Amino acid sequence: MALTGMQIYKSLPKTNCKKCGFPTCMAFAMQVAAKQKALADCPEISDDAQSALSDASAPPMKLVKIGASGKEFVFGQETVMFRHEEKFHNPTGVAGKISASLSDEEAAAKIEQINKAVFQRVGEELKVSLCAVGVDCSDPAARAKMAAEKSNVPLILMGSVDSLKAAVEAVKDQKPLIYQADASSIDALAELAAATKAPLAVTAGSLEELADLTKKAKDKGVEEMVLSFNTEKPGDTLRTLTIARRAALKKSCRELGFPAIVDINGATPEVEGALANTFAAKYAGILLVNSVEPCQLLPLLTTIQNIYTDPQKPNTVETKLYEVGQPDENSPVFFTTNFSLTYFSVEGEVERSKIPAYICVVDTEGLGVLNAYAGDKISAEKVVKTLQEQGVADKVKHRKLIIPGYLPIFRAEIEETSEWKEVIIGPELASKIPAFLAENWK
Ligand code: SF4
Repeated sequence: MALTGMQIYKSLPKTNCKKCGFPTCMAFAMQVAAKQKALADCPEISDDAQSALSDASAPPMKLVKIGASGKEFVFGQETVMFRHEEKFHNPTGVAGKISASLSDEEAAAKIEQINKAVFQRVGEELKVSLCAVGVDCSDPAARAKMAAEKSNVPLILMGSVDSLKAAVEAVKDQKPLIYQADASSIDALAELAAATKAPLAVTAGSLEELADLTKKAKDKGVEEMVLSFNTEKPGDTLRTLTIARRAALKKSCRELGFPAIVDINGATPEVEGALANTFAAKYAGILLVNSVEPCQLLPLLTTIQNIYTDPQKPNTVETKLYEVGQPDENSPVFFTTNFSLTYFSVEGEVERSKIPAYICVVDTEGLGVLNAYAGDKISAEKVVKTLQEQGVADKVKHRKLIIPGYLPIFRAEIEETSEWKEVIIGPELASKIPAFLAENWK
């Protein structure tokens, strides 16, 4: 639970010495409560008070980092059960599994496939976040080193205690996730995690047992942990994950205050896809998947992207004149809204048409064409004003403007009130733009 300013103030020296840059201890306490300042900015606070306050004010779910500095995968530190309450913060990572039974060549080929699994969607890069490498092979250290060399993303190392000891030691500078400790291996793997400063995945048959194991690991010095589950009984896992998250966020159960990893195992790629999408929504921080084929990955990454957008803020693009390709004075001019999905649909289809063009983006507060019109966020007058502000007329020598097919009503007013005397009604759907341009823009 977050501490209030008054709770923080009670532990401060109350001398108003101003060394923190604030005129009073109370003013400083309010800044700490608002997470604008850290307790360490008060040079006068006692070690005991700092330690007590730090524990109490720590986030209910730990932030965990996997990987060497500069290419870390960061997850956890979620604060709400439902995204409409606030937002989910650190998107779920997809980890491609590389079986220990693969030969070195096969493993290297799959790592390369993971490296190449990068997609662009609505202006963002979507990709596989981690490589989960099985190390129960003849030379665990060599397999881990090869994976660290070839992978563009951080590693999860999976195997028995002896294999993990050799593999983690070989690549400890890469800070891999150690996967995974249970009741029989918690002592050995917690010692390994503490010694190498690597995060540790922990699994158990029940939440009570899991809480005992994370406490045991913490007592041995492990700070970063991940709660580990599988999909043998998906309904039970979904329920358990929900209870664990509620216990951490609502009941301040520190032993369960860690993000989760879910090993997805479906009988078919379709079932694996359905399970992965389900657990992306509730509440996996990492999904371990077998398939890294684009047809499996893109729907999953799209789901994750949508879940981790801020529901209170529409996705928008900057309101400006965009150039697709290298347009010149004879190129077509479109206008569209600043809702990112609309903009990137139009941009993608203009690109597909292979006819360079200008796209004038009008500020509709993140609404698509029809919603913007229904909500009075776009008008012919606003379009004309935006065209002027963006200097579109200086870019082309013609005065033809292609408008969205859903707004034919704007045509007469734009032609009457601006220099754009030839308004062309474009298609209703962005997907029709290539055919429309081929036919209408000679
Ligand atoms: S430095 Fe510490 S003791 Fe001094 S005013 Fe700031 S909060 Fe108070």
